[in-house]
Amino acid sequence: MIGTNNDATAIQPVIVGAGPAGVRAAEALVAAGLRPIMLDEAARAGGQIYRQPPPGFKRPKSALYGSEHHKADGVHRSMDALAGKIDYLTQALVWHCEGNVLDVLVDGVTRTIPYSHLILATGATDRVLPFPGWLTPGVYTLGGSQVALKYQGCAIGADVVFAGTGPLLYLVAYQYAKAGARVRAVLDTARVSDHAAGLTGMLRAPGLLAKGLYYMGWLRAHGVPIHNGIRPVRVLGDERVSGIVWRDAQGRELQVECDAVGYGLALRSETQLASLAGCQFDFNRQDRAWLPTRDRAGRSSVSGVYVAGDGAGIAGADAAELAGERAGLALIEDLGMKVDAARAQDLEKQLAGIGRVRQALERSFPFPTDWAESVQDDLVICRCEEITAGTLRACVAETGAREMNRVKALTRVGMGRCQGRMCSAGATELLAHALKVGPEQVGRLRSQPPVKPFPIRVMVEEQS
Ligand SMILES: Cc1cc2nc3c(=O)[nH]c(=O)nc-3n(C[C@H](O)[C@H](O)[C@H](O)COP(=O)(O)OP(=O)(O)OC[C@H]3O[C@@H](n4cnc5c(N)ncnc54)[C@H](O)[C@@H]3O)c2cc1C
Repeated sequence: MIGTNNDATAIQPVIVGAGPAGVRAAEALVAAGLRPIMLDEAARAGGQIYRQPPPGFKRPKSALYGSEHHKADGVHRSMDALAGKIDYLTQALVWHCEGNVLDVLVDGVTRTIPYSHLILATGATDRVLPFPGWLTPGVYTLGGSQVALKYQGCAIGADVVFAGTGPLLYLVAYQYAKAGARVRAVLDTARVSDHAAGLTGMLRAPGLLAKGLYYMGWLRAHGVPIHNGIRPVRVLGDERVSGIVWRDAQGRELQVECDAVGYGLALRSETQLASLAGCQFDFNRQDRAWLPTRDRAGRSSVSGVYVAGDGAGIAGADAAELAGERAGLALIEDLGMKVDAARAQDLEKQLAGIGRVRQALERSFPFPTDWAESVQDDLVICRCEEITAGTLRACVAETGAREMNRVKALTRVGMGRCQGRMCSAGATELLAHALKVGPEQVGRLRSQPPVKPFPIRVMVEEQS
């Protein structure tokens, strides 16, 4: 029964997230004789990359996860082996965290789960910067496009364009083409010279480099046009996507017909729960985002709270496994129990190595820092509250606001259902551009519960 599961009843570790980081953290805790509670809003373990389809779906792992299917199988098997040794709640949305207690929505009912120690392994979501037409039905994020394919075997359209940048751009385009969709074009905001600049650093990870080159080569060999150094101009179509216009590296406007667009500019960490738990944050230049402060083992600034995997900083699935285990070991160390120090050191060394590869990836797929200057005033930045770029600029000009939370209070940007998870990257860039400062100088949106959309019925029942 949850809440009475550890020998020492005062010790109740809780892990949020059953992705690669959460699973490895749980394994470490169980190996030390603890019985953690694991909570995940998904129906099955695996996280984003190793997401499992609903039971009964027949696509083999080799088709679902491609070259990563052995790793996916490893994580799924580990999770199976943990059955009976952990308390695992699926479809459990953690929507608030305060005073060592989590508020969790399970089966339409909200309940509280106290913790003595908390490992946040909450992963990431796509990072988007709006452009005209981005709200047209048929525009998805890159990750969302992949979720449709991986989870349900569905494509977002029959004639699809993938745009943005990052390794996921080529991977998802490849997965779609392999699955039988017509990929009409891959539009990469990174220039060929950016890819070349990252190449030397990528030699540290020859497997990853080979995979990336393979996807690009395969797409070209199968007639998929790849355009580099582009800027998306607008999505065509009113009730449904009918095409996309982009500007090429020479500044010419080009367009292609399609019925769906997958779009994204790498990933952003899911940090809301860390924020609500009171963790301190630092601005991370590489992620161009505020991330929870952590030591090499994953300890946050709050005693007993640990962060691991993409939720602590984007580093990919292999790093997530290592960081999850390391955070588990840190928790065990902090309980005064013995850990294998050599293993802990080795994990940190491997993580540092992956960190260097990440720098090269960032050079290969740089964030388009010129985005804000091209944005017209009528572009909707915050879709929940329908806040335009013009409203944000006017707020800066007319009120002198210089900080994200002040701008939020004055305009309602980031105050809607997504709580800034979708719009904060764009809003930050616009505010910084309007003020002629770097994004680190405009602060970060403080998190508010519920961290994700939540049935209003439950809230009403809570209060009555
Ligand atoms: C949509 C998407 C697709 C991706 N596809 C690939 C890919 O094909 N190849 C690749 O190399 N990388 C991919 N990535 C990146 C990859 O997912 C990560 O590097 C890796 O999964 C990180 O592992 P993790 O354990 O840190 O987080 P994740 O695997 O993201 O797991 C986090 C888990 O936390 C749960 N969670 C988050 N917030 C809450 C909450 N409030 N309450 C309850 N549960 C919560 C989520 O349901 C999820 O299961 C993808 C990322 C995204 C966002």
